[in-house]
Amino acid sequence: MTALKPDRSANAQLSTIKLISLQNELLLAIGESLHAREVMHSFMQCARKLLNLESIHLYSFHEGPKHSQQIEHDIAAPHGDIRPHNHEKVMALLELFTRAEARTFEHLEHNNVHYLAFCFHPYGVLLLVKQTAFAPGLPEALISIVKKLARHYKICIQHKQLKDQISNIQDIRKSYEQQAKQDPLTNLPNRREFRYALYQEIAKAQRYHVFGALLYIDLDNFKHINDSLGHSVGDILLTQIAEKLKAQARAGDSVYRIGGDEFVYILTNIGDNKTTAVNTAQHVATRILQVMEQPVSIGEFSLHITPSIGIAIFPCANENECDSESVLKHADTAMYRAKEQGRNRFEFFDPAMQDEANKRLIIEDHLRKAIAKDELHLAYQPIIGANNRIVGAESLIRWNNPTMGNITPNDFVYIAEESNLILTLSDWIVEHACAFASKLRKQLPENSDFKYISINISPRQFIQQDFVDHLLDIINRHKVPTDFIKLEFTENVLAQNIDTTVGKMNRLIDHGIDFMLDDFGTGYSSLSYLHRLPVNILKIDKSFVSNIEQQTREQRTIIDAILVMADKLDIKCLVEGVETEEDYRYMKNRKIYGMQGYYFHRPMSGDHLVSLLSQQGD
Ligand code: C2E
Ligand code: CA
Ligand code: CA
Repeated sequence: MTALKPDRSANAQLSTIKLISLQNELLLAIGESLHAREVMHSFMQCARKLLNLESIHLYSFHEGPKHSQQIEHDIAAPHGDIRPHNHEKVMALLELFTRAEARTFEHLEHNNVHYLAFCFHPYGVLLLVKQTAFAPGLPEALISIVKKLARHYKICIQHKQLKDQISNIQDIRKSYEQQAKQDPLTNLPNRREFRYALYQEIAKAQRYHVFGALLYIDLDNFKHINDSLGHSVGDILLTQIAEKLKAQARAGDSVYRIGGDEFVYILTNIGDNKTTAVNTAQHVATRILQVMEQPVSIGEFSLHITPSIGIAIFPCANENECDSESVLKHADTAMYRAKEQGRNRFEFFDPAMQDEANKRLIIEDHLRKAIAKDELHLAYQPIIGANNRIVGAESLIRWNNPTMGNITPNDFVYIAEESNLILTLSDWIVEHACAFASKLRKQLPENSDFKYISINISPRQFIQQDFVDHLLDIINRHKVPTDFIKLEFTENVLAQNIDTTVGKMNRLIDHGIDFMLDDFGTGYSSLSYLHRLPVNILKIDKSFVSNIEQQTREQRTIIDAILVMADKLDIKCLVEGVETEEDYRYMKNRKIYGMQGYYFHRPMSGDHLVSLLSQQGD
C-alpha cells in the first residue's frame, strides 16, 4: 500500500481546530439511536459532507466455507445504486483487514482515486473514497471516531438481538396462551373459555336486566361419519362446520367448540323482554338449521349433516338457580329433547317458550301460502276531520285462514317482519290499497271531503333501497294522484341511519306524499328526532286516548303536553282509539286535526266504505 501523499488542494492542510470540530460533528452524527442502520446512515452522510467524499461504505465480514472470511458490501452513502468495488486492488485492501496483522487503517491510490480503509472491528471495514488525497493527520484523527462508531454499532446489534429474543419468547408465550384457550382443530375458543364467558354473560344480563341465550348444538349422527369415512374426514367436516357457525354469529355473539361434535353459541343482549329474546334466539337457531342444510363437500364426498339445538334463555325464571351450570344443563336437556323429537330441529328448555316458537313457525308457514290462497284482504277505518266528516281512511290488513280463523295483524305482522316475508306482504298491501284508492276516487261524490288513504309501512319495507321508486311505481301504475296516499310508520323506522331516512322522506314529500308518525308516545318518542324529521302529522297512540275517564292525571297531562309541543313545532295531531262518548268529548275541545276509533267506525270492507262515503255526500 502507498504511503499517504500530501494533498495540494485547497482544504489539504487541516488545522487542529478544524480537526477537533470535525471530530465533534462526526461524534454528534453517531448520535444515541439504537437502530444500527440509522446510526450508520447518519454518520455516513455527515462524513461524506464534511470530508468531501465521493462515497463511503461499510463492508462486512461473513463466515464463508471452511471458516474462510468473506467480504460483503453492506451499507453505503450516497444511498441508492452505489455499487461494491470489484477492482482487485481495492479488494486486496479490504482483505488485509480479515487478517489479524491488519493495521487500524490503510490507504490506497488507484487511477487517481483515493481509498482510506478503517478496521471496523468486529464487523468489517469502513471504506472512504475521495477524488483528492486525504489530508495528512486526518486518518489518525478519525481513528477514535471510527472506534466509537464501531462500539455503538455493536451495542445496536446486541440490542436488536436481545429485542428479537424477547419478542420470540413473547410469541411463544402468546401461542401457549392461545392454545390453552383454543380448540386446536377449529380454532374456536374451547370449553374452558366458554365456561368463563357464560358465567360473565349471565352476570351481565342480570345486572343490566337484559336477556341472553345459550344455544347448545349437537351434530346428528356424526359418529357414523367418523366410523365410516375415517377421522380425518370427520376433522375436516368439523372445521367446515365451525366456519359455517362462525359466519352466522352476530357481532357480540360467540361460538365455542366444547366437545367432539358439540358447539355452543352465547347470544348476548337479545332484548329487554322475554318475547323479543325468544324471537331472536329462534331466529338464530332457524338460520343455523338453514345453513346446515347445504351439504359440505370434502374431496369426492358431499356430506349432509344436521344439528339438534337446545336453547336456554338467561337469566332464568328462577333467579336463585341461574348459575352457568344450570343454564348449561337446561340447554343440554333441551338439546336431548330436540333429538327425541326427531333431530334437525331446535327446542327451548322452557315449554312456554317452545309453544310460542311453535305458534310462530305455524303462522309463518301458513302466511307464506296465504297470499297465493287469497286469504288476505284490506279493511279500511275512517278518519274523521275537524268538521266531523270522514276525511280519509287507514288501510289495515286482515287474514282469514280456514283452519286458524281470523288472525289479527298484531299476531302475524311482526312474524312476517322477522323474515323477507314482510316484503311480499307489503307489496301485496300497497298494490291492493292503491287499486282500492283508484276505484274509490272514481266513486266519490263531487265536493267530497275525503282526501286520502293511509297505508301502514313496516320498517323492513322502508329500509329497502328502492322503497321510494318502488312505491311511486305502484301508485303511478294505478293512476292515483300521489297526494291521495299518506304513509304511516312507527318510530322503529328511525332505528336506521337518520340521514338516509330523512332523504327518503324528502323525496316522497317532493312527490306530494305525506307521513304520519304512528303510535306516537309509545316508542322512544325522542323529540330531538322529531324536529329533524319532515313529519307533519302525529298519530297519538290509542293507549293515551281510549277510556280517557280512567286515565290517570299524569296520562292526561302527557297527551296535553304532546298537543302543545306539536302545535309549537307546527305538526298536526291525530288521535286514534277514540272509543267512547267521553273520549270524544275530551278531544273535541282540543286542537286536533283528526280522530279515529271505534266510537266513529270500526275498520270495514272497501265496499262498505264506498257506500258510507256516498251517503256522506248527501
Ligand atoms: P296501528 O297501525 O296502530 O292500527 C290501529 C289499530 O288499532 C288497528 O288494529 C285498529 O283496528 C285498532 N283500532 C282502531 N280503532 C280502535 C279503538 O277505538 N280502540 C282500540 N282498542 N283499537 C282500535 P289492527 O287492525 O288489529 O292492527 C294492529 C296493528 O297491526 C296496526 O296498528 C299496525 O301496526 C299493524 N298493521 C295492520 N295493518 C297493517 C298493514 O297493512 N301493514 C303493516 N305494516 N302493519 C299493519
Ligand atoms: Ca297505523
Ligand atoms: Ca297506531
